[in-house]
Amino acid sequence: MQKRDTAPPEQFKMYIGGNWVGASDSRTLNSTNPYTQQIWASVPDASAEDVNTAINAARDAFDNGPWRQTTPQQRAATMRKLGELIARDAEKMARIESTDNGKLLREMVAQWRYMPEWFHYFAGQAAREWGAVLPSDKPNFIAFTRKEPIGVVAAITPWNSPVLLMIWKLAPALAAGCTFIVKPSEHTPVSTLAFAKLVEEAGIPPGVFNVLTGGPDVGRQLVSDPRVDKIAFTGSDSVGKAIARAAADNFTRVSLELGGKSPQIVFDDCDLEAAANGIMSGIFAATGQTCMAGSRLIVQRSVHDEIVRRLLERVKTIRLGDPMAPQTEMGPAATEFQFQKVLSMVKAARAEGATIAYGGEQASLGGFFVLPTILTGVTNDMTIARNEVFGPVLSVLTFDTEDEAIRLANDTRYGLAAGIWTLNVQRAHRVAAKVRAGSVWINAYRTFGPYAPFGGFKHSGIGRENGHEGMAEYLETKSVWIELTGKLRDPFTIG
Ligand code: NAD
Repeated sequence: MQKRDTAPPEQFKMYIGGNWVGASDSRTLNSTNPYTQQIWASVPDASAEDVNTAINAARDAFDNGPWRQTTPQQRAATMRKLGELIARDAEKMARIESTDNGKLLREMVAQWRYMPEWFHYFAGQAAREWGAVLPSDKPNFIAFTRKEPIGVVAAITPWNSPVLLMIWKLAPALAAGCTFIVKPSEHTPVSTLAFAKLVEEAGIPPGVFNVLTGGPDVGRQLVSDPRVDKIAFTGSDSVGKAIARAAADNFTRVSLELGGKSPQIVFDDCDLEAAANGIMSGIFAATGQTCMAGSRLIVQRSVHDEIVRRLLERVKTIRLGDPMAPQTEMGPAATEFQFQKVLSMVKAARAEGATIAYGGEQASLGGFFVLPTILTGVTNDMTIARNEVFGPVLSVLTFDTEDEAIRLANDTRYGLAAGIWTLNVQRAHRVAAKVRAGSVWINAYRTFGPYAPFGGFKHSGIGRENGHEGMAEYLETKSVWIELTGKLRDPFTIG
């Protein structure tokens, strides 16, 4: 692997209450480029005092600031401006993110170019969320509902797509009139700080958007503070559980987007070429570091050998290398921990009886590069089929009947996504209805958009992001009753 020249790490600051600040105790964290393995940036490591300052700023901006008082149309105008600024800087921001997390520049550019759509969509939703006049059975009353912003939102995000997964929370929160504090992953803090510059330029008032950088302690403090009204988390299911417990103490509203062990079900009546492409993109794009990775290939026995043959043919040609280079198809694992975890899970799979049909070891490039890996002969009771790898490892299982395919697909504690490959329209509908997952793709994989609710069944999460359901996560509903005669006299006749 080629190492690039070292330059001193770039320094970044946090954005709290409209001010650019270092940590109150001057501590910093380094961010490492997973490709070069060199420290390229330094960010503040927020202290407990900084977390407190950010919560105060967001609380004050919500309780006393102008954002919540603006009309939905005014908020929409500012959000559209933010969308335009993201579009203007998409390439620059993608480069920062790719340097931070090692994902392909072209994938990050595509993500950044798509991000404005969230601000445009939720700008529209801001003016589309209204209450209703209720069909009251009390002649002297009119009753209606109001949709009100939920309050101060604390967002905690993972390293794989830091800003995309943040704006799935931020765009509806801004549209609703909430204020927002985000803590990106300690592994990839820089793009969120760079994004804050665009928020400032868009004219979003101080305190409405705040960024704290730091590790789990910062997250723990945020989620246990009673001044926070809502926690929006994307990350692992183990941290999700800890957050749900902390949230329970204050009955803080919580939405959790967690992991997956998503099945790709391939029937023998599918277009095998399309299925092979969909399987490849489902597991090897982004080096398998996506929550929706199609990591369990559940294939009908009659086409097992042919599908595996096609996958092996393709997987050998995947170009690993510099995430910034246009020809690269797979980058490194994002961290050394992740790199070691992938290799040790493959080793354990072999010990449990799986066959390594390809990969399973460090690539000749060295560094955090793992070869794309295909494991055959996997059964659903093996650890590799039960736990999330979050790396480029495909486990291949077989089935004979449709019922068996559905049983295998659902035999997991997760339920984030599923792919179904068949040209039989009745079967496609039957299976889509029976698979317990929040997103199901038929003859496709990995598509999403601001209008389509995304989230998990079972251990893959609570709540939904995007779409109307995603907006509802940032609103409280209030019922208002008005007595119309003005002559309420008998307290015992109400009700
Ligand atoms: P992680 O759970 O280790 O960390 C996520 C964030 O939580 C980080 O910012 C971390 O600092 C913070 N954190 C850690 N402990 C905390 C605590 N006790 N209280 C509060 N905050 C705490 O996840 P990760 O390794 O960064 O990301 C990978 C995971 O994210 C995978 O499991 C993946 O499936 C999941 N993910 C889910 C989705 C989705 O939309 N469902 C999308 C992307 C990633």
